[in-house]
Amino acid sequence: MENCIFCKIIRGEIPSYKVYEDNDVVAFLDISQATKGHTLVVPKIHSSNLIDIDTVTLSKVMIVAQKIATSMMKTLDGIKGINIVNNCGEDAGQSVMHFHVHVIPRYSKDDFVMHGLNPGKTENLGSIAALIKTKI
Ligand code: AMP
Ligand code: ZN
Repeated sequence: MENCIFCKIIRGEIPSYKVYEDNDVVAFLDISQATKGHTLVVPKIHSSNLIDIDTVTLSKVMIVAQKIATSMMKTLDGIKGINIVNNCGEDAGQSVMHFHVHVIPRYSKDDFVMHGLNPGKTENLGSIAALIKTKI
């Protein structure tokens, strides 16, 4: 899709902190880190949301989400758990209309905020992405 921000990242037209890439799926750090390591898993084919995506691609996305979650458990100091989140539709909080799942590390029961609330925590994205990549 011409003007889709995630399609632009996939085409390499705008930069991202990539954690993983294969023929069908890419994963990169969310620019607004809900917690340290917050990653988005995105299919390369554009589908607008959970309802529109084909099941084969959906499965591939979830398999990559599992790989990233596994790596996070091994690489991120202090991690206690992980949330996998999909927002489907504007009223459910979806702001980018290209299907994706959030993989959000949890460091305590109280640290969960969805997105857009931690703009000060994005300074080390390169080193965080490099860390997660080591165990995928
Ligand atoms: P959602 O609200 O579920 O659609 O999530 C979209 C996410 O994309 C938000 O958490 C944004 O912070 C994130 N986001 C938007 N633009 C970019 C970008 N250029 N690079 C990385 N993440 C982005
Ligand atoms: Zn797209």
